[in-house]
Amino acid sequence: MQFNYDGLSSRVIFGAGRRAEVGEELDRLGIKRALVLSTADQSETCATFAAMIGNRVGALYPGAVMHTPVQVTESAMHQMEQMNCDGILSVGGGSTIGLGKAIAYRTDLPQVVVPTTYAGSEMTPILGQTEGGVKTTLRSPMVLPETVIYDPELTLTLPDFISGPSGMNAIAHSVEALYAQDANPIISMMAEESIRALGAALPKVMEDGSNIDARAEALYGAWLAGACLGSVGMAIHHKICHTLGGSFDLPHADVHCLMIAYSAAYNREAAPDAMARIARALGIGDAPAGLYDLLQSVGRVKSLAELGMTEAGLDKAADLAVQNPYYNPRPVTRDGVREMLQAAFEGTRP
Ligand code: NAD
Repeated sequence: MQFNYDGLSSRVIFGAGRRAEVGEELDRLGIKRALVLSTADQSETCATFAAMIGNRVGALYPGAVMHTPVQVTESAMHQMEQMNCDGILSVGGGSTIGLGKAIAYRTDLPQVVVPTTYAGSEMTPILGQTEGGVKTTLRSPMVLPETVIYDPELTLTLPDFISGPSGMNAIAHSVEALYAQDANPIISMMAEESIRALGAALPKVMEDGSNIDARAEALYGAWLAGACLGSVGMAIHHKICHTLGGSFDLPHADVHCLMIAYSAAYNREAAPDAMARIARALGIGDAPAGLYDLLQSVGRVKSLAELGMTEAGLDKAADLAVQNPYYNPRPVTRDGVREMLQAAFEGTRP
């Protein structure tokens, strides 16, 4: 047994109602004038948090948008500088957290993050930004939030068409962590537990979004999945999803949700230990079949055809996906990828 393990250090506070501790957490980091971030959709939540932290508010910026455009970061920083802010409080999903990370990258200010989706960005030292329509990704310890408060009550308002795909997107991080080139036993334990928790919780969340126990279990799984994404490299699934998302403008979480069963099937023979752990976590004999069953109950879209892809598009996607491939346990071939895309196009059980 040989492995490297780099522990990522952040403080995690988990539990229903624990957002009430946000003021104490700002104090712990010495933040006296926080820049409070959210999307425009969540501006009410932003205002509620501002009221909760009282005189520790420096400024509010409810202007986060998808893909962390650099001009939005600059506009938020202008607000931050005018009001002399000395720390960041991000409340929301990956878009809001991305804005907080972009500011931390430029200023090294401490961050308290309160996630409200299952995207997992709060646990990674990864920052994706866009400038002039081009997305670039970097890794830096400066962007990893110091403190994360997970309060499942904040996810009760997350609609099911976001909850299901966003939760499956988290599962996809954990699946790939199990067969990563730099996999290690700690992260693999977290990955398996994350698939178990999300696999059990997501169908219950879809049935009843107000089920706080299921919401808590899903958020717990999402936390672990974020830690997996932040710690080890991803493989063919992430490459194909970036290709489909980037070159065909398909919705990020829906694509992950659909493709993970097919990506797992691609690696079925090449990664038997990972498959056994995924299957055990889902309580089924075959990992790709278990992921496919989960897709049927939580997915919004069940085939690439439903997403509007064409056969010609599949050819182009296969060509693109084999360029600069990521590490993958089974060699990435154009024919293999094309076959995988065909199965996903038809939505057949892998
Ligand atoms: P998001 O942050 O864009 O949120 C989606 C929508 O849901 C927004 O309109 C938001 O206002 C709303 N919303 C969020 N929480 C809600 C709640 N509890 N109730 C009601 N509405 C709510 O989406 P996301 O999926 O969380 O994040 C996606 C982004 O995060 C992508 O840009 C992705 O690239 C990035 N991401 C980055 C990393 C990383 O490590 N850097 C990891 C995962 C995702």
